[in-house]
Amino acid sequence: MHRDVIFESPWVKDDVRLFRENVRAFVARELVPHQARWRAQHGPELEAWTKAGTAGLLLVDVPEDYGGGGGTFAHEAVVLDELARNCVYFGTQVHTTVAHYLLAYATEEQKRRWLPPMARGELLGAIAMTEPHAGSDLQAIKTSARREGAHYILNGSKTFITNGAHAGLVIVAAKTNPKVIGMRGTSLIVLETAGLPGYRTGRPLEKLGMQGQATVEMFFDEVRVPAANLLGGVEGRGFAQMMEQLPYERLQIAVGAVAVAEEAVAITARYVKERNAFGKPLFDLQNTRFKLAECRTRAQVGRVFLDSCIERLLAGQLDDTSTAMAKYWLTESQNQIVDECLQLHGGYGYMTEYPIARMWADARVQRIYAGSNEIMKELIAWSL
Ligand SMILES: Cc1cc2nc3c(=O)[nH]c(=O)nc-3n(C[C@H](O)[C@H](O)[C@H](O)COP(=O)(O)OP(=O)(O)OC[C@H]3O[C@@H](n4cnc5c(N)ncnc54)[C@H](O)[C@@H]3O)c2cc1C
Repeated sequence: MHRDVIFESPWVKDDVRLFRENVRAFVARELVPHQARWRAQHGPELEAWTKAGTAGLLLVDVPEDYGGGGGTFAHEAVVLDELARNCVYFGTQVHTTVAHYLLAYATEEQKRRWLPPMARGELLGAIAMTEPHAGSDLQAIKTSARREGAHYILNGSKTFITNGAHAGLVIVAAKTNPKVIGMRGTSLIVLETAGLPGYRTGRPLEKLGMQGQATVEMFFDEVRVPAANLLGGVEGRGFAQMMEQLPYERLQIAVGAVAVAEEAVAITARYVKERNAFGKPLFDLQNTRFKLAECRTRAQVGRVFLDSCIERLLAGQLDDTSTAMAKYWLTESQNQIVDECLQLHGGYGYMTEYPIARMWADARVQRIYAGSNEIMKELIAWSL
């Protein structure tokens, strides 16, 4: 897809600009051409992961000591932005999120063991919180981890797990103390899934969009995990750890939302100048111009708010309420803009070969996962 750069964000310094050029070239050359196949087969060949690792697209804001890119969230934002603009989704966002949980809570030995292969794209990460009967209400999860000597024994199931199909490392939210009601009985336990007895995943779920990243169910039947894989080493901290890390994931989502919104406006502006109706380009109709003007304004307002969040994050000053606002408002805006832009494409907008149709389908889940937008409004309201 072609891009119309409106203005450059203030957090894009020279190194980030150069990094963006490399990412853009890699995405165009190595990822975009394969999207139809990835969507049909629910994911890329595993080689795409190692290629992305070699090109330096994975764990870009993880320290070099652990195999990461040694960059900041600015570099991560560039990767998210370039992938989203091109409707390329294959689970890298969740992969990075998992790395951040490890950075925050794993032991030094675990970080050195897990993070370098994740950065190379050889070990894929997933995080399994959601269960068939517990999504927004994470305190209601039932998956249990019972301590037996030097191991935990996991039983239960998860659903909607991105990257679950090929993840070698899965962070599982489980109840380590079923007697404690609510959040304090929950812990995060890391599963190393290779050859793990009792661990199984289902076939990829059929989704409305984002088909290039497989989303699966997971089942645990007396799965034995070394007790050392309890993330953070203390039982009952899982809920707090999720609350600490979810804002990072929400900002990742907000970055993609603004990128898609801008790209949707750009491709639609070009389309309506080429498409004629009643003897003139669609762009000559006042309604078309007004709709696009509204969309472009909304996208740009969103960009400015996102930039403010990114700058505050880089300065260590971003608050969770602003992150919830970004996730809620920017994904709502993304959906509104993409919907208006699809309308301006007429019937072609409904054809999946047109990028706007894929943007529309991919956008919908942004309002649902990583904490639905209704939950974001609850979080925002708590600040009042
Ligand atoms: C494509 C995809 C990928 C995903 N990837 C992952 C993943 O990798 N790992 C993972 O753990 N999960 C993942 N999820 C799960 C996702 O986070 C949940 O779907 C989401 O948190 C909502 O939970 P739910 O589906 O159970 O909906 P529910 O919790 O049943 O919510 C249904 C509706 O009720 C509303 N609602 C619920 N509670 C409240 C409230 N208190 N106030 C107002 N409204 C409320 C919700 O906003 C929603 O509109 C993924 C989901 C999808 C669709």
